[in-house]
This record gives sequence, structure tokens and C-alpha cells, in this order.
Amino acid sequence: MVAYRHLGSSGLRVTEITYGNWLTHGSQVEADTATQCVHTALDLGITTFDTADTYANTKAEEVLGKALAGTRRDGVEIFTKVYFPIQDKGANDSGLSRKHILRGIEGSLKRLGTDYVDLLQAHRYDDATPLEETMQAFADVVRSGKALYIGVSEWTAEQIRAGQELATQMGFRLVSNQPQYSMLWRVIEDKVVPTSEELGMGQVVWSPMAEGVLSGKYLPGQQPPAGSRATDERGGKDMIAGWMRDEVLTAVQSLRPIADEAGLTMPQLAIAWVLQNPNVSAALVGASRPQQLEENVKASGVRLDADMMAAIDQALGDVVER
Ligand code: NDP
Repeated sequence: MVAYRHLGSSGLRVTEITYGNWLTHGSQVEADTATQCVHTALDLGITTFDTADTYANTKAEEVLGKALAGTRRDGVEIFTKVYFPIQDKGANDSGLSRKHILRGIEGSLKRLGTDYVDLLQAHRYDDATPLEETMQAFADVVRSGKALYIGVSEWTAEQIRAGQELATQMGFRLVSNQPQYSMLWRVIEDKVVPTSEELGMGQVVWSPMAEGVLSGKYLPGQQPPAGSRATDERGGKDMIAGWMRDEVLTAVQSLRPIADEAGLTMPQLAIAWVLQNPNVSAALVGASRPQQLEENVKASGVRLDADMMAAIDQALGDVVER
């Protein structure tokens, strides 16, 4: 079964491997496969699910809500987000204004078929709205019980500090940040992680497999395998394009002997690597088919020793973004 970790210093326990549905549900994969993935995740012991109002222009929340229907609500943790434009893209259909946050959570709850989410996250920082207004709206959402906890996503260390200060004054706390983090993308290590640790916040990290690149299935100089994100014309291909360089793909292949020696597959090595960071509350994995989840959950509880961590750094060399 998948191990639990606390979400930052909050009392909420989340599965350290959490299933997210960006680019898959309501888009790349059919509803039946999406439902099978959610049910497989539950069978494997994953109880925490991440989505966003903007994923597949609100369809991803609907698919997740339907797939979870009939599951005991208190037995799962549902995360969603607010910020990016949705549906009609009207003047107030995006950002972190009071109007968009309060209307946004209503729409998310309806689509998810629930009366509360466990975590509502500010998907990005909104320079155009006073932070006081945003934090007051989040405080009201928490008081209404529509979200139990509030987190942020891709905020800088300075934005996190300013947000936490206001949240504390208003009687609630930011519990998490959701940044990109993987063996290849380590930019949070310098400032975001130390600041979050100091302020009692955990990282819920996205694309721990660099969108599948760290699975090792993309080989330099060769066509991507059929059905993979790199071939998906509905948006996936564009999103993964930044990683699809021979230099990166060659370096990734040099991780294979390290994974073999550890008795892990490459996806498991990638997920285990992010979970070595004690400030990580959860690795937020994607999956386009149930078999991927069956493989990926086996990274839970794996410890990589210092020699392995050093070997990974040496293998990747300069392709790591810091
Ligand atoms: P990953 O790095 O885990 O990539 C997942 C993709 O990799 C899968 O959809 C699948 O794609 C491929 N894959 C997964 N397992 C395997 C395997 N065992 N073998 C081979 N290929 C595999 O994460 P995502 O990029 O999907 O992001 C995860 C979640 O993070 C999202 O769903 C979302 O919840 C969150 N997120 C948040 C963002 C934010 O701004 N806050 C931004 C982006 C994501 P395929 O089969 O199609 O090749």
C-alpha cells in the first residue's frame, strides 16, 4: 500500500504518491480509461487526487467527480485549483479576485459532485489583485467549509512568505505549494523549499517523471512510442516538447543502470528520487493507463542511499535545471 505523509505541518494525511489528471482526463484518455485509472489508484491505496478547474476546460473535474462517485467521501482527499481562465473566459473568469475565487469554488464543487474539497490551491500568483483580497477570500472559503485547507502553486519564496503572513493574521494557514520538481528540474531547492520548511508548508510536486521523459521510453534519435504524451496532438505533445532533446534523452538513458542496480524501474527511480526530499508531501504523478499506476506506486517507501543519489547527479550532469 502507499504510505501517507502529512501535508506540510497540517494534520491532513495524504498519500505520498498522488494521482493527478492534467492532460489525461477529459482529453488524452477516454472516460472509461480515466475511470479505470481512478479505480486502480484506489485499489492500490492512493486516496489523494489532484485536478484543476482549468484542466480540459473543466472536464477533468467532471471526470474525476464521476469516477469517485460511490467512494466514501471521507476516505479520499480531493485537491483542486483556481486562477487560470475557464469556460467563457470573461473578464472575471480568471485570477485570484474575490469574485473568481468564491464563484470558482462553487463551480468546482458542482463538477466534482462534492460539498467540500480538501485542498484549494492558488494555481499561480496574481499580480493584478491585492494579496489581502485574495487571502480574505480564501479565509472565507475555509470558514464556509467549502475547502478544508488552502495551498498555492508555483509561488516564489517571497510570495509564499507574504501570503503566509496575511493568512496567519486572518486565522488560517497556507499548508502547501505545488511546484514542478524532478531529477531534471530542481529550481525549488534553493529558496522555495527552505522558506516552506520554515513556514510549515510542504511541496506537492508535479511532473516528477518530467511528463514521462524520466521513464526512459523516449530514445534519442527515435520516434516516440505510439500513444505516448509526446505523440498526443491534443496538447500533450506541445507541453512535453521542452524535454524532447537528444541531450536530455541521452542523459536520461544513463540512469538505467542505476535503476537496475537498485532493483527499480526508471519511473520508480524518478518518483523515489523526489520523495527523498523531506519537504515533499506528495509526488503528483500522471498516468494514461492503469498499468502505469501499478508500476509507479511501487516507489512508495523506497530509500535511495547517498551513493545512488550521487550517481544520479553524475549521470545527469549539466542537463539538470537548478
Ligand atoms: P508525470 O511526470 O508523472 O508524467 C505522467 C505521464 O508520464 C503519464 O501521463 C504518462 O504519459 C507517462 N507515464 C506515467 N507512468 C509511466 C510509466 N510507468 N511508464 C511510462 N510512462 C509513464 O506527471 P504529469 O506531467 O502528468 O503531472 C502530474 C500531475 O501534476 C498533473 O496531473 C497535475 O495534477 C499536476 N500538475 C500541476 C501543474 C501546476 O501548475 N500546478 C502543472 C502540471 C501538472 P503517456 O502514457 O501519455 O506517455
